Amino acid sequence: MTMTQKMLINGELVAGEAMIDVLNPATEQVIGQVPDCTVEQLNRAVDAARRAFKTWSKTPVEERRALLGQISAVIKDNADELMRMLTAEQGKPHGQAKGEVLGASAITGAITMLNLEEKVTEDSEQRLSRTRRVPIGVVGAIVPWNFPVILAMQKIAPALLSGCTIVIKPSPFTPMATLRIAELIADIVPPGVVNIITGGDSLGPAMTSHPGIDKVSFTGSTATGKRVMESASKDLKRITLELGGNDAAIVLPDADVKDVAEKLFWASFTNAGQICVAAKRIYIHEDIYDDLSAAIADYARGVKVGDGADQGTAIGPIQNKAQYDRVLDLIQDAKDKGYPFLVGGEGQAEMPGYFIPVTVLDNPPEDARIVAEEQFGPVMPLMKFGSVAEVIERANASDYGLAGSIWTQDTDAAVAIAEQLETGTVWINETLHLSPFAPFGGHKQSGFGAELGQEGLAEFTYPQVITVRRG
Ligand code: NAD
Repeated sequence: MTMTQKMLINGELVAGEAMIDVLNPATEQVIGQVPDCTVEQLNRAVDAARRAFKTWSKTPVEERRALLGQISAVIKDNADELMRMLTAEQGKPHGQAKGEVLGASAITGAITMLNLEEKVTEDSEQRLSRTRRVPIGVVGAIVPWNFPVILAMQKIAPALLSGCTIVIKPSPFTPMATLRIAELIADIVPPGVVNIITGGDSLGPAMTSHPGIDKVSFTGSTATGKRVMESASKDLKRITLELGGNDAAIVLPDADVKDVAEKLFWASFTNAGQICVAAKRIYIHEDIYDDLSAAIADYARGVKVGDGADQGTAIGPIQNKAQYDRVLDLIQDAKDKGYPFLVGGEGQAEMPGYFIPVTVLDNPPEDARIVAEEQFGPVMPLMKFGSVAEVIERANASDYGLAGSIWTQDTDAAVAIAEQLETGTVWINETLHLSPFAPFGGHKQSGFGAELGQEGLAEFTYPQVITVRRG
């Protein structure tokens, strides 16, 4: 049975005039229809957000916090339903889908603990000068298909806390859980404060060029991020861009092979590798390369790929056909070039669903496409390195600069390496941990600005300095 959903515009659930089909990537069956937002509906959403901004921006911050607390609770109370929808549209296993939904609830709650306090910047005989943070206005938020629920809340929560209102658009591939949240919050949120719209390829550009939107908060690929920046430049909209990555994991010779094998595997393969901060290039010191690559391969052979709704599935399908074809093309390129495979690479089973078997490559060259490009799929290239200086240079030789990780028992040595990596985040002996209290953002072509933490919250505001002359 398919489900027909509505958008949230100005506090009302609004049906589509035309609809877009949503597929389950594990079955390729249509599971729902969502509205293809018209220009007129987008205008209505933006107008509603502009009107709501006048009162919401003046609403005491404690009331804004309380509303976010209610939204957080509603998401948590409906976690099982949202989990099933998220697995059906995105593909990830139920356990990970539940983790994402509960994570979205938790992060919404945690963000309410942030504070943008006024600062006195001069208190002298001549003057009293203070800097306050003023909400920017209407935020246009655009979300990708890999973590639709948590990434939406990572934008909605700080926008609302800062006093902004928001028009948010999930990816057309994964709109359903987000529209269910729209339904769940429709009666809680004042009209116009949160508007959730869905549409096809023209909706994102219509938002980034809309004169009624003051700031764009975008998460997606670097290629699209550049288009967003170009479009936003027309009227100098403020932008935050969270883009792609090609994170290096560096394994030093003293690492515990067995322990690290499993952790590195999941650093790369969680969500079928479709994570901006997945470990996408694994550099292993030559002293332990053979042992660790064998241990990773052993572990990889035991992991079940399948429909995320089936019990025991650890890795689901690729979320959509275009990405599936891209990952297969990268695997084919590696085969054509004769790079050795430790696991996978045998070819695709004839079955519905965008499934790619776990694939591990054995020391492909640095200029292989699978190393140089962001694979965003379940393919892990393992590479050998000899010296720390060499591996730092190889890790940094990328246009991306999102995150990276170092694996060793010598954390001082790891910190010294971390300080030389050109990335927004470096993890030592773990990955994928994002804190609501720390800024997350990419260096180089991985992004512009940051989300989360005080820094992320501040991006929904501008600083206003008020100076009073004394005497
Ligand atoms: P994408 O860039 O194709 O799409 C992202 C969103 O942008 C979608 O909602 C899409 O509809 C919309 N969009 C498409 N064209 C647009 C345009 N011209 N103007 C405005 N919006 C437009 O990305 P994707 O394939 O959905 O997601 C995968 C990418 O996202 C990967 O590169 C991944 O690394 C990145 N990502 C980054 C982060 C991060 O925080 N840095 C997090 C998750 C994903």
